[in-house]
Amino acid sequence: MKEFKHFINGQYVASVSGKTFENRNPVDNTLIGHIHEAGQEEVDAAVRAAKTALSGPWKALANEQRIALLNKVAERINERFDEFLEAECLDTGKPRSMASHIDIPRGAANFKAFSETLANHPTEGFFLDTPDNKGAINIGHRTPKGVIAVIAPWNLPLLLMTWKVGPALACGNTVVVKPSEETPATTTLLGDVMNECGVPPGVFNVVHGFGPNSAGEFLTKHPLVNAITFTGETRTGESIMQAASVGLRNISLECGGKNPSIVFADCDLEQAVEGTMRSAFVNCGQVCLGTERVYVERSIYEPFLARMKEEVAKLKLGRPEDDSANFGPLISKKHQAKVKSYYDLAIAEGATVEAGGGVPDMGAELNDGAWIEPTIWTGLADDARVIREEIFGPCCHIRPFDTEEEVIALANDTHYGLAATLWTQDSSRSIRVAEQMEVGLVWINSWFLRDLRTAFGGAKQSGIGREGGIHSLEFYTESKNICIKL
Ligand code: NAD
Repeated sequence: MKEFKHFINGQYVASVSGKTFENRNPVDNTLIGHIHEAGQEEVDAAVRAAKTALSGPWKALANEQRIALLNKVAERINERFDEFLEAECLDTGKPRSMASHIDIPRGAANFKAFSETLANHPTEGFFLDTPDNKGAINIGHRTPKGVIAVIAPWNLPLLLMTWKVGPALACGNTVVVKPSEETPATTTLLGDVMNECGVPPGVFNVVHGFGPNSAGEFLTKHPLVNAITFTGETRTGESIMQAASVGLRNISLECGGKNPSIVFADCDLEQAVEGTMRSAFVNCGQVCLGTERVYVERSIYEPFLARMKEEVAKLKLGRPEDDSANFGPLISKKHQAKVKSYYDLAIAEGATVEAGGGVPDMGAELNDGAWIEPTIWTGLADDARVIREEIFGPCCHIRPFDTEEEVIALANDTHYGLAATLWTQDSSRSIRVAEQMEVGLVWINSWFLRDLRTAFGGAKQSGIGREGGIHSLEFYTESKNICIKL
C-alpha cells in the first residue's frame, strides 16, 4: 500500500492532522494507497520554505548552473523512466504505450526546453535622446517573480505540471505544486529526483489535497504566493482568479475547451479520419485540446462517418500493461458518472448513437473500473447541451455543413476558444479559415503537434495568458527597465 506525503523543504512530511484520503486505480477501482491532505499549516510551511529558498543557494546560482541543474533533472526522470511510467499508469489507467511516448518523455523534456529558451533570450535596449544631448540608455532586465503556485489537473499529470514547473524554475522562481487529488504519484516522485540532483531544499514543494477549503484554496489564497499558474476547468479558473485578485497576483489560466474540427471535402480523407480519431479518443478523450465537435463538408459526410465508425470499432479497451490495448478507462468513477450523464443526455436531446454510447462490459475483474465506450453521435441540434458543454470524455458529434462561411460561424459558436483543427489540401483556405477561428491554437492537417517555443493558451473562456517559449519567460519573470543617464 502506497502513502503519498507532502514534499516540503526537501523532505517528505505527513499531514499534521493525520488526515488522508484514498487513491484508487481507475482500471479496477482497487486501492493504490493513501494521500495526505494538506491543511493551512502544511500549505503555510511549503510557501514559507519556497519564500526562504528564493534568497538561499538557489539565488546564488548563475544562470548556467541553474540550467545545468534542470537538465540533470530531465536526465534523472529519464533514468527513472520505468518508475514514473508505472506511477502515471497506476494513477490514470492510461495505456503504457501512450504514457511511454507522451507523458513521461515530454514531462522530462519540459525541464530542458525552457532552460534553452532562457539561455538564448536577449534583453531589450533603447537609446534615449535627452535635452543635454548626452542621452540615456534603457536596459530591460528580468528577475524571478518569486513563489509560484502551480495548480495541476489529472489528465496529463507529469507533463502538464512540469510544463509550468520547468519554466518557473528556469527563471529562478521557487514553486509550490498542488497536483490533482486524482493523480498524486509522479509529482510526489519528482521531489525525490530534485533531491538526487541537488536542487536546494524549498525550491520545489508539493502539497496534496482538494480544491475548495483544502490545499488548492489555501495555496492560491496564501499572501506570500506571488503568482498562480493553473490548468483545469473554467469554473475553477474563475475561483482562482478571485483568489488572485487579493494582493493583485498575476495569473496564467489554461482552462477547458469544446474544440471543433472542420473536415473540408478537399482533405486527404484517410489523414482526416486518422487525425480525428486521435483528437477525439486519445487518452480516453481526456485532452483539453481534444475534438468534441466535428463538422464535415456534406459531399464527404457519409464516407467520413462510415470510416470513423469502422475505426472506433477497432479501438481496444484494456489494462495499461496490455500492449494490444490502446484505450484506457476514464480517470475515476466520479468522472465516469459525469461522462455517462452526458451520454444519457445526448439520447434525451435526440442524438442518433452511431457508435458506443454506454458503459462496456469489461468482465468481472474490471467492471468496477471507470470504463466508458468511445462514442459518436449525429443528429443533435446546434444548441443542444451536448454540443455546447465540455464533456471531457471519448466522444464527438459529427454534423454536415455546406459552406465555409456556415462552418466558421458554427465552429465559433461557443464560449470556449482553446483549439481548432482544419483538414484541407487548399492552403489559401486553410490560412483564411484559421485566421477566423476564435481560438488560441489552430492545427491544419495535424493535431497536438507541439513546438514548446510557440505560444500556448486559450481565447474566450478557455483561459487567460499564454505560456511556451518567450511567453513563459514573460509570465515567470518580472520585467524591469533600468535607465542609465549618460
Ligand atoms: P479541475 O478544475 O477540477 O481541477 C484542477 C486542479 O484545480 C486540481 O488540482 C484541483 O484540486 C484544483 N482546484 C479545484 N478547485 C480549486 C479551488 N477552488 N482553488 C484552487 N484549486 C482548486 O480540473 P480537472 O478536472 O483536474 O481537469 C480537467 C479540466 O482541465 C478540463 O476542463 C480540461 O479542459 C482542463 N484542461 C485544460 C488544459 C489547457 O491547457 N487549457 C489542459 C488540460 C486540462
